[in-house]
Amino acid sequence: MQIIELLVKIRQVWIDRISHRLARGEGVRESFIHELSQFYDLLQQAIVTGDPAWLDPLLDAWVDARTKSELEKQETSLSPILNQIVLTTYEVVSENIAEKDALEIFGAVLPVYVYALDRTAQREAQLHIEHISNELDNVRLTLERLDKSKSDFIAVAAHELKTPLTLIEGYSTMLRDQFPIIDQSSQSIILISGIKNGTRRLREIIDDMIDVSLIDNDMMSLNFQPVWINQLLTLAEQELTETVNTRSQTLEINSFPGYDEMTFGDPERLYQGLKNILTNAIKYTPDGGTITVDGRKLPGFIEITVKDTGIGIDVADLERIFEKFGRIGDASLHSSGKTKFKGGGPGLGLPITKGIIDAHGGAIWVESDGYDEITCPGSTFHVLLPIIKESPDFRTAKLFRPLANLPKEENNDELISEEQPEKGNPTDLDA
Ligand code: ADP
Repeated sequence: MQIIELLVKIRQVWIDRISHRLARGEGVRESFIHELSQFYDLLQQAIVTGDPAWLDPLLDAWVDARTKSELEKQETSLSPILNQIVLTTYEVVSENIAEKDALEIFGAVLPVYVYALDRTAQREAQLHIEHISNELDNVRLTLERLDKSKSDFIAVAAHELKTPLTLIEGYSTMLRDQFPIIDQSSQSIILISGIKNGTRRLREIIDDMIDVSLIDNDMMSLNFQPVWINQLLTLAEQELTETVNTRSQTLEINSFPGYDEMTFGDPERLYQGLKNILTNAIKYTPDGGTITVDGRKLPGFIEITVKDTGIGIDVADLERIFEKFGRIGDASLHSSGKTKFKGGGPGLGLPITKGIIDAHGGAIWVESDGYDEITCPGSTFHVLLPIIKESPDFRTAKLFRPLANLPKEENNDELISEEQPEKGNPTDLDA
């Protein structure tokens, strides 16, 4: 007998048995019978043509019909159905077809079933990956929204805190001014100094919070002026000498090629960034340690390195410390001492420093062999700053062009006109 005739012979038994086993209710069974009939028709087509891909549209539709909850529970809905189809085919063929013809049917249907199992497994896995990646996208969006609201909250809270802080600062200054100069060592003056120190520290923290939200929202504006790295480092050295001495540390600032070269940048912001790195080096180095500032000139860049003999940084944290609130270590051991050994702050210093360096078109990174408070492997922070020959801000560019030894612009801007009055018309200038 022809294979197709054999398949036609067992068609109804096959459909009845599978539908009874897999679909319990009457209503469900009816539509399932329709699906099974389609499957059987396509199975026949596949066998006749030798191309199992005939089943693809139906198999894909079955896989795609999986619900969201099935995907969440990672249930494989099709393999039990396909397993049942294989088993029932075996039973029905054995019961209704002579042994010789049965072998022929098995030989024809088995490769198609293997193909169907493989195809559905692949499509199910693909659907799963799509589902997980959608879920990840949703989580990412939620996190972004949360981060944005956190950043907005920080900005608003910081601005709100500034007003009462200004009042406290003003009143404590007025209170101190009530005391004559000779009373400067009185108990009251000591108490007022305590208030002033506290408010100064609070102002620093609030300013950091505002800086972080400015960086987060790409709103940090730079005031480009000529900058000399050596001047910034000397200033920082002067400011930190007392702290370094209190901690019996040594701060060495070496001169290096490019150290005294003029570049354009925001001096206040760059100073803030370099001081953050130096303050951290002091903070995370035990008493008696050494902090060395060095650097080199690279084509188009100046690289500054700040190396300490401190506790070092775990290799896993080398990037994390530049993230907002990325301070590492146990938060319960948190101390707000600015330069006390391991006196961690709120974890905003390095993200702000990175924001400042990034805004200058530079880069910052750190190297350390790991964290160890006993052996103190130390850390080396690298800051790469582009050498900017002309201010990117056109207003200051005009002003500083002679200082940077750049050729004057061939246009009639005010500066050039004033320097070369004979070429211009005085009446025009007055106008
Ligand atoms: P913090 O206010 O905690 O100092 P920072 O953003 O300045 O915040 O630094 C983030 C974290 O990076 C710190 O909590 C500290 O764990 C680590 N860190 C920064 N500088 C150093 C350093 N020189 N040596 C060791 N750890 C450092």
